[in-house]
Amino acid sequence: MGLRSFGNVIGGKRVAASDGGVIESVEPATGVPWASIPRSRTGDVGRAVSAARDAFPGWWGLPALGRAAHLRSLAELVRSHAAELATIESRDVGRVARETAAGDLPACTEMLHFFAGMADKIHGDTVNVGPASFNFTRREPYGVVGIIVPWNAPLSIACAKVGAALAAGNTVVVKPAEEAGCSISYLAELIAESGFPDGVLNVVNGIGEEAGQALVRHPGVGRLTFTGSTDTARTITAQSAPTLKPLHFELGGKSPNIVFADADLEAAAVGVSTAAVYTGGAGQTCIAGSRILLHASIFDEMVERIRTHAASVVLGDPTDHATTMGPLVSEAQYRRVMGYLEEGRHEGRLVFGGRGAPDLFPADSPYSRGWFVEPTLFAVDGNDHRICREEIFGPVAAAMPFETEEEAVALANDSSYGLAAGVWTSDLGRAHRMVRDLDAGSVWVNAYRRIHWGLPFGGFKESGYGKDSGLEGILENTRIKTAWIDLGQSS
Ligand code: NDP
Repeated sequence: MGLRSFGNVIGGKRVAASDGGVIESVEPATGVPWASIPRSRTGDVGRAVSAARDAFPGWWGLPALGRAAHLRSLAELVRSHAAELATIESRDVGRVARETAAGDLPACTEMLHFFAGMADKIHGDTVNVGPASFNFTRREPYGVVGIIVPWNAPLSIACAKVGAALAAGNTVVVKPAEEAGCSISYLAELIAESGFPDGVLNVVNGIGEEAGQALVRHPGVGRLTFTGSTDTARTITAQSAPTLKPLHFELGGKSPNIVFADADLEAAAVGVSTAAVYTGGAGQTCIAGSRILLHASIFDEMVERIRTHAASVVLGDPTDHATTMGPLVSEAQYRRVMGYLEEGRHEGRLVFGGRGAPDLFPADSPYSRGWFVEPTLFAVDGNDHRICREEIFGPVAAAMPFETEEEAVALANDSSYGLAAGVWTSDLGRAHRMVRDLDAGSVWVNAYRRIHWGLPFGGFKESGYGKDSGLEGILENTRIKTAWIDLGQSS
């Protein structure tokens, strides 16, 4: 069977790359190509930015409730095509249907409604400088917002960024990851066919160093928001310097998930294993709780509980709702994670796991050639190991003991990252102290990996700056203009 083909959407039309270039998209569960997306070049990106700039006056010129109505129609379009979008995403990136169909797609619909509801609540302030002038601020859009999306949760990350930017009155150009263009492109095609204003939402697929870089460098892009790796964020910072455009970075993490002896240990065992790192996306989430800090008095017991939950993980066809963990996204990611598994054997004690696809499925299974890695736990004696400091982006965790609350905080904060943290305790005072003392953009207590579009989300330190979602995520898509009107003399 031929490859399913997805296009760019520029100015409301589905188009190929101008030179006809394509990227084959490989199904990570089987290692077999299944679709193609355009390999866009600088000129294609330029056309998308021009279309977005042309559409901007009309979009910003709409009453806020007019933009809201369009966003609501977008939300309902996602709802009515949720099943197909979920299947495309599961096939394309290996994220399990339990998370795409049951989680991401309903969330995309809800968050687009949330952003629609916020469109008419963006306002400036009046400022009392003195009786002789009237002073006020206006919040205005940047014009065109460039959006660069990673491969781990393409639709929900794209919807969060697109919804906020459009609600604030911007138009957008989206560059999906080269491994993950299909679901976003399909949604853009649906949007183009639905009567949504042309050019307000454009999608250009391609390679980061080509299409991504062209978007970053383009002087017609007023703001850029990026989710991905810290290294790429550094490159983007340098590439964007000539145009001085404001940047928003949501980057990697090495998040601690801390269990105190007074916690509900069974809830914590789920919270540090299948909820945090042995996830449907195989731990390929920026907020993976990849460092598990266990009070020394419960270390052995918790490791056994974690082992039990890890053993319940079902690997296989990501589109099957019985599957609880999918493959890694690509061969490159598989080799990267297998490298860390080798490293971990020298740095700590392998408690369970450590095997890849050929050892997990019979040789005649199509999944034996996929990019699966089983849930893996290392026990380590401290935090000074590569597997404790570098983002692995796989179903791999390191467990380490601590004796006191102060030690737990010190270990948790001993990281170049500061994206998220989890705390498991029944002591309310301790919960509040930990929220206060942990150096991370999100802290969950007796919960993990809980994200809601109403809450700002983003990291500290090398996990980035700025926020997606929440009121803050919308306001970051605006710039403030200050007005001073001299009142003159009364005659
Ligand atoms: P990248 O950060 O390279 O990719 C994220 C996005 O940026 C993709 O769309 C990519 O395009 C694009 N990109 C890459 N280079 C440039 C550039 N110079 N200018 C503009 N855009 C660019 O992530 P990787 O796919 O390389 O993953 C590597 C590691 O990054 C992972 O193992 C993980 O540790 C981390 N990561 C973190 C994520 C998070 O959610 N915070 C998400 C994804 C990865 P293209 O796909 O073509 O390279």
